[in-house]
Amino acid sequence: MEKSRFQVAKLVQCRQIRKSAGIIDSLDLYDIFIISASSRHCKKISKLIFFNTLDLHYICIMDELYYDALDLLKKMVSIPSFSRQENEVADLIENEITKYGFKACRHGNNVWSIAPYFDESMPTLLLNSHIDTVKPADGWDTNPFVPFETEDERIYGLGTNDAGASVVSLLAAFRYLADCDRDYNLVFLASCEEEVSGRNGIESVLPLLPKADVAIVGEPTCMEPAVAEKGLMVLDGIVTGIAGHAARNEGENAIYNAMDVITALRELTFERESEMLGPVKISVTQIEAGKQHNVIPDRCKIVVDVRTTDAYSNIETLELINKCVGEKCTLVPRSTRLEPSGIEESHPLVKRLKILGKKPFGSPTLSDQALMPFPSVKIGPGDSARSHTANEYICLHEVREAIQTYVTLLDGCHIPKNE
Ligand SMILES: [Zn+2]
Repeated sequence: MEKSRFQVAKLVQCRQIRKSAGIIDSLDLYDIFIISASSRHCKKISKLIFFNTLDLHYICIMDELYYDALDLLKKMVSIPSFSRQENEVADLIENEITKYGFKACRHGNNVWSIAPYFDESMPTLLLNSHIDTVKPADGWDTNPFVPFETEDERIYGLGTNDAGASVVSLLAAFRYLADCDRDYNLVFLASCEEEVSGRNGIESVLPLLPKADVAIVGEPTCMEPAVAEKGLMVLDGIVTGIAGHAARNEGENAIYNAMDVITALRELTFERESEMLGPVKISVTQIEAGKQHNVIPDRCKIVVDVRTTDAYSNIETLELINKCVGEKCTLVPRSTRLEPSGIEESHPLVKRLKILGKKPFGSPTLSDQALMPFPSVKIGPGDSARSHTANEYICLHEVREAIQTYVTLLDGCHIPKNE
């Protein structure tokens, strides 16, 4: 314990030297790193030195971004930010952006910043993640609103994994890339109401932003890129019959009629199948009929959960489903706006991700990508299995690696403009 505190002190010292001295001999810095090279932090730094051919200035910047990101993450955890109640955490992000010398814009609880040198003629890359959390699950061993850092280098707290670590890592990457030569515009957006797909979230703010050509969406994916994501439609249907007394042979049972509809839905297959997402998944998830035991029911309500893929638009999928159930029932969508999303395998971002050794995959879960009418990749630190669970945590190295990966991916990347 004593030892690790000493080593962290060394790292802090490096940052302070750089700040106070302005330009200093990089060899001095190098020595300091070597002196403390026995700690786990420093081993990682040694690795960076190796990969980046002794670019110590770069290492210092990355180090500083990393520690700032951790500080911000802890502050975020300590502010409850349930969906539709993100006001205070939005204030925090707004202040943070301003603190680093960027202009912060705000719409409701969505906060964004456009990097300097914006040029209409260039394509625009959007970095996005969400600042809202779900309510804490039962079974937390610690206070979910008090960030708790352990000796094995994890931070526990509500929203650390989903998606605080992504927010702070993307903001760190934004800070780095804002200063770099780019042939694309860069926008950072911390949006709200993601967990409830709310109307005041990303959907409300996209029209106010420069038109994006591609987006990186930060969600816990173990830093592997989800290049396609299923969409969602919830359908409501009523199957009718004719009421009658159960004791006599009369009426037409709506439950029996619904069974035909359910069987048709269960057996429905589509001609086209998405390469990344597989088949469209249709599940009847709720059913409700009957008022009392001796009355043949004349109505049976069903609810159908449809996970759509990029093989069809939501409207096309809906048409095929209604064609299949025929006249027995009309299934009405609550909304068709949560479209399947994705990005072409040939997109330069996907190609670069592959060069970095990443393995593109199709994601069955839904994010704000569903509301983006342009290509997007979902990639972020942490593991989706930890989301919405008690004792949610993020590992420190996951944040460091995320910042590094975003920067390596995007620095010098060519972004094509959408027509
Ligand atoms: Zn999330």
